[in-house]
This record gives sequence, structure tokens and C-alpha cells, in this order.
Amino acid sequence: MKPYQMLIGGQWVDAAGGAVFDTENPFTGKAWATIPRAGPEDVDRAVAAARAAFRDPAWRGLSASARGALLRRFADLLTVHADRLAEVETRDNGKLISEMRGQLRYMPQWYYYFGGLADKVEGRVIPIDKPGVFNFTREQPLGVVAAITPWNSPLMLATWKLAPALAAGNTIVWKPSEFSSASALEFGRLFEEAGFPKGVVNIVTGFGSEIGERLVSHPHVDKVAFTGGDRTGQAVYELAARSIKPVTLELGGKSANIVFEDAKLDDAVKGVVSGIFAATGQTCIAGSRALVHRSVHDRFVEEIVAFARTARIGDPSREDTQVGPITTKPQLAKVTDYIAIAQAEGAVLALGGGRPTGEACREGWFVEPTIFTHVTPSMRIAQEEVFGPVLAIIPFDTDEEAIEIANSTIYGLAAGVWTQSITRALTMSERLDAGTVWVNTYRAVSYMSPFGGFKRSGIGRESGLSAIREYLQEKSVWIDTSGSVPNPFVQR
Ligand code: NAD
Repeated sequence: MKPYQMLIGGQWVDAAGGAVFDTENPFTGKAWATIPRAGPEDVDRAVAAARAAFRDPAWRGLSASARGALLRRFADLLTVHADRLAEVETRDNGKLISEMRGQLRYMPQWYYYFGGLADKVEGRVIPIDKPGVFNFTREQPLGVVAAITPWNSPLMLATWKLAPALAAGNTIVWKPSEFSSASALEFGRLFEEAGFPKGVVNIVTGFGSEIGERLVSHPHVDKVAFTGGDRTGQAVYELAARSIKPVTLELGGKSANIVFEDAKLDDAVKGVVSGIFAATGQTCIAGSRALVHRSVHDRFVEEIVAFARTARIGDPSREDTQVGPITTKPQLAKVTDYIAIAQAEGAVLALGGGRPTGEACREGWFVEPTIFTHVTPSMRIAQEEVFGPVLAIIPFDTDEEAIEIANSTIYGLAAGVWTQSITRALTMSERLDAGTVWVNTYRAVSYMSPFGGFKRSGIGRESGLSAIREYLQEKSVWIDTSGSVPNPFVQR
């Protein structure tokens, strides 16, 4: 068992109470490392360290260009350590090594991009409507940012917060998921090595139920950036509201992949499969509903079932594995429950639904790639986020109906459109309630393009130019240029 420590104020420490918890490998079902189990006292220490670092000239006194250079140095280190970190992620969360390597090798781009942006944040001079005054704005960091992240793409989702928050000059207390803390702690070493002053990045590990509330409600936390489930997000939002903290929420989804009759069906099949079975369906952007025009429905079902059946399920650390295990035991139970619920509601299993029987899947937390047909839009399997490899196929007859069904859930994270018609693509991109719309592609993300949700999928945007604004506040400065203060008792 590998023992990990947390990062607080530049020191690697155990939890104040000395408690630890085991972290397990989803492929073997066995514990492989111990993680400090922080309590409220540790949160207080981390927030105090972040607050002190925010005020310290070692950070606050850095020019924006120097901050940017630190981020770029971090990116260089991340490039060197990408493959090693990918292995830790795979061991800890069971995601495919091929996907994790791809993610880790791409991740430095966020730090290069936001490092480059750090010294391009400018205020404005306002041509104010009053004589004898000069008015301008400053963009200033918020202070201590609490970053709370889930287990499905642990380092990537943290990076979407850390890169812009640090570029803007904030300091961080990061609480990774209790199911994927090891990679976060390995990541923390690179901030030290890059030369970030002590306390600028702090990492506290532990359970949301034990330290999450303390972190969100802490009077010295100035902003909360959260990614996770929508119910937790709601609780975080309510708690943050009590102390009027700004929040960014990246929450769940029930994204629709819409296949029109004029789509290239082979491409649509590949796109829908990648949308739901990549990452074993454990992504917020999972295209968990396929809305398929009735005229191509049966052919689509036949082709997607045949294609999905070819997926190689097994050891996520093997390069050739295509579908890995479910990351956590509770999540395995949740996915299995939803399969039963869908069947009870009258959906028909076209593929999967059980545990794979192969030798490679004996120990781990596996579910077969699962496809349901005869799904109606009001069924729970068509409305609720499963967060697993379960696809619900729903037929439609008209474009209007497709839009209505696609927009009928409480979520609005993403949507896919499969069509050869540019008019239809443009209309759909406007009418779909989703923060991201992909046309004839799915799952593309970039450090350059904003990502976030409509409706219950979230608040705020990550990545892209505007993301840095989530970590800044605008100040208006008024300077008298008239040289004399007028008599306040005389109305002007
Ligand atoms: P979760 O909501 O259970 O946990 C997320 C984080 O919140 C964890 O670090 C957890 O410890 C913490 N937490 C739990 N209770 C808390 C509380 N009361 N106060 C503060 N923090 C608390 O989510 P999960 O199961 O780890 O991740 C899966 C969910 O994340 C899915 O719903 C998925 O859609 C969502 N997600 C969204 C995005 C996005 O960008 N929109 C990306 C990935 C995952």
C-alpha cells in the first residue's frame, strides 16, 4: 500500500487527526494506496495557507507575466510526467490508459493557454459622462478559490479550474474526489517543482460529506468552482449563497445525439458509440440518448448493436482495451439499478444489460455496454443521468419533435446532430438547449472553446477566453482631475 500525504502551505502532511482511507483499483477491486482523511481542522489550515499566500508579495507581487511563466513551466513539467500520471489515474479510477494518456498529453495546453492569457487581462478606460473625473477599471483576482472535483476525469476537470484561477492570480484549495485523490497528490508535486510559492496550491483529501461543507461555507473562501453531480451542485450552491460566494457549477447531463434521416449512418453509429461507451459512459457529456429518425431507426439499431458488440472489455491498463470498468462500487450499483428500472418501465434490451463474463472482467466492477430500444421520452432512463455505458434509443418523426424531446430533460450540457444539411445543422445549433452542440462529431473539447451547461447542467463556463473572467472581479476607479473638491451642500 502506497501512503500519500496532502499538500498544505507547501508542506506534505497527514490529516490532523491521523486518519486515512484506502483507495481502490476498480479493475482488481483491491486497495492499493492510503489517502489522508482530512477533517474540518485540515480545511481550516489549508484555507489559512491559501489566504496567507494570496496576501504574500511572493505571489501577489508577481507580475502577470511572471505568473504566466510559472504556469508555462508547470505545463512543461506536466508534459514530462504525463504518461506516469496517466498510469496513476488508470490504477485509481479504472479509465482506459489510452484515454488517460491522451488527456494527460493534451492537458499542458490549458496551462500554456491560460499562462499566455495571464498578462493579457486589461481594464478599460470609461469615457465617463461627468466633467473633471477619470474613470477606469481594474480586473482583480477573487482570493481563495475552492476547487471541488469528481472522479471521472480527475486531473482534467481540476485543470479547467486551476489554470484560469491561477492565471488570474488567485490561490487554491483543491478537494479532489475521495475516489480519485492519488493522481491529485502526485500532480501537487509538480506545482512545487515549477516554483509556485508555498500555499498557492493546497490539496486536501477526504470525503465530501465530512469536509465539503466546511470548505464551501468557509468565511475565507472567496469562490467555489465545483464539478460533480447536480444534487451535490445544488447543495453547494445553496451553501455558497449563505455567504454570497460566486460559484461555477459544472454538473450532470442527459445529452441527446440526434440522428436525422439524411445522416451518414456509419458515421452516426461511430459517433453515438463514442458518445456513450467511451470512458464507460462515465462522462458528463455522455450522449446517453440517441434520438433517431423513424425512417432509419431499425437500420441504425441493427448497425449500432453490431458495432457495440465488438468492443473489447477488460483491463484498462492494456492499450487495446476499449471499455473498462465502472470507477466506484456505488456507481456500479447505480448503473445496475437503472438497467432494472428501464426494463421495468418497458424498455427493451437490444444489447448487454449484465456483467461481462470474460476472465479479464472477473474481479472488477464491470457492466456490459448496454442498449435499450422502445424507450419513450418520459421514462426515467430517458430523463435521468445514469453515468454508465447505457444508451436509450428513442425514435422521432419530425425535426420539431426531435428538438422537443432533446430539450425535455432538466439538463442542458451537450447535444450531437448527425445530418448532411447545413440548414438543419444551424437550426439545431440554435434551438437545442445545450452548452455545446456538435455536428457530425461528438466529445470534442479544447482549451480554446467554452464549456458549460444550460439549465441544471451548470453555471459559468470553463476553457476559452471568457473562463478567466470567472476568476476575476471588476473594480471601478474614479479619480478627480478637476483639482478641487466641490462644496457637498451645493447640488451639482
Ligand atoms: P459528486 O457530486 O458525488 O462529487 C463531486 C465532488 O463533490 C467530490 O469531490 C465530492 O467529495 C464532493 N462533495 C460531495 N458532497 C459534497 C458536499 N456536501 N459539499 C461539498 N462537496 C461535496 O460527483 P461524482 O460522483 O464524483 O461525479 C459524477 C458527477 O459529476 C456526474 O453527475 C457527472 O455528470 C458530473 N460531472 C460533470 C462534469 C461537467 O463538466 N459538467 C464533468 C464531470 C462530471
